[in-house]
Amino acid sequence: MRRNKQDKNFFKQDRSRIIKDKRHDPYQPVKKYPEPTVCTMCGAFYKNGRWTWEEAPLESNEMECPACKRIADGYPAGIIELRGDYLLDHREDILNLVRNVGKTEKMQHPLERIMKIKNSKLETTVTTTGMHLARRIGDALKDANKGELEYTYEGENYIRVYWSR
Ligand SMILES: [Zn+2]
Repeated sequence: MRRNKQDKNFFKQDRSRIIKDKRHDPYQPVKKYPEPTVCTMCGAFYKNGRWTWEEAPLESNEMECPACKRIADGYPAGIIELRGDYLLDHREDILNLVRNVGKTEKMQHPLERIMKIKNSKLETTVTTTGMHLARRIGDALKDANKGELEYTYEGENYIRVYWSR
């Protein structure tokens, strides 16, 4: 893989500010939820060990799902960093692709959501509530646009994805 100087710096960024605590993940999707539970924020429904968009019966417990907690706390499980001249020239199309992947994943997996898309002059940063979605976005970017893709796992509960072209 060939990389220019700017890309090298790109892949070496400081990660400490986002990983505050690797000892536990307060957003575990499975633990601590009685069944059935409905999320009071988004309506996701927890039963048989999984979250779905099924309609919750009235007698369901009421709590916040892990995805809504992450969004409220601003604590992502995945971050995708997009860079390069090609990105800057095609940003709108690329962001549409990112949003579409987000929509599809959220429908199938309620805890996998895009949190924020932030554009700056030279890059775009996308944060997600789930690691799976971050990977899916990275793969979709590469499939559709080629470019260079890397993943870094940080502990069991956090992933950084870098795409550049
Ligand atoms: Zn929720």
